[in-house]
Amino acid sequence: MEFEKFRTMQFPRDIYVGHGVLSQIKNIAKRNIREGTVVIITGENTIKLAGNEVSNHLSDASIDNHIIVTGGATYENLESCISQSKEFNAGLMVGVGGGSKIDLAKKIAYILNIPFVSVPTTPSHDGIASPRASIKKDGWSVSEQAAMPVSIIADTSIMVKVPFKYLAAGAADVISNETAILDWKLANRIKGEEFSSSAAAIAEYAAKELIEKAHLILPGVEESVWLVVKQILASGTSMAIASSSRPASGSEHLIAHNLENLTPGKAIHGEQCAIGSVVSMFLHGGDWKSLVSTYSKFGLSVKAKDYGIPEDLMIEAVRTAHRIRKERYTILGEVDLSREASQNALYITGIL
Ligand SMILES: [Zn+2]
Repeated sequence: MEFEKFRTMQFPRDIYVGHGVLSQIKNIAKRNIREGTVVIITGENTIKLAGNEVSNHLSDASIDNHIIVTGGATYENLESCISQSKEFNAGLMVGVGGGSKIDLAKKIAYILNIPFVSVPTTPSHDGIASPRASIKKDGWSVSEQAAMPVSIIADTSIMVKVPFKYLAAGAADVISNETAILDWKLANRIKGEEFSSSAAAIAEYAAKELIEKAHLILPGVEESVWLVVKQILASGTSMAIASSSRPASGSEHLIAHNLENLTPGKAIHGEQCAIGSVVSMFLHGGDWKSLVSTYSKFGLSVKAKDYGIPEDLMIEAVRTAHRIRKERYTILGEVDLSREASQNALYITGIL
């Protein structure tokens, strides 16, 4: 048989992480813009944290730029941002914010086919370094293909200012790679899905680093932000190698996304992933207790009641999670879990 394998990988060209790296935006803009202006997508709060500063750095370097202040990652906001970006003749998109502004900017860049620069203001999830975006349609969030950032500017002096729960959530998003890898290996055994050992090794390494150093993830300490962000970026690299979110997103993410849809705004993404990973680890027959104890080292609870998640919706979130992304085979299988099995997993692990 002829050799027909191929794979494409997209990586960010420049990654700046550390204290005060925000000023690098002017060099990055110069390197990546071919024509048009720089459009900055940001929010009401994040404009004060970093949006204005990004704009000032660009203006100082005489780079034409416009700020769009927007709300959540919904289709309405996406459409309005796209038409404004077109009016501004956008040649480079910069997303400045937490999850939703980054998601909007990377989706706009993908649609307009222009480069995207990720400027996260929170270290709360691994979406800052991935080509996937969650955009809400009719209140239901779907993970879709978007642009891979050509550059990431992760300024720890900015990220240390946000509430600690965002850092804890970011760490949990990375630690939950543990169950994502188990699911990937399972899909390889059961479905013959292609498995990349190098991508898995990096995703696993990122998780292990944070498990080992969980006691060093502390509030108000810039070094802790540095610790977590480095592994968020490593997680992003694993996804780039796999050309898929597989190494960092398995059954725990299906549960997390289902939870977000059923109980929007109760817990943030990384917290939902933490809960999901404990359930998944239990279902895999793995050491879920050590996951719970790791999360507790940086004050992250996996109890549904601590987030105001009602018991019946928590059970439902686990029971029907496999429906979120049918082609992603995981320990959750291809049919709904029984109510008893979901309940059992949640009671035994102390989530309920
Ligand atoms: Zn995630």
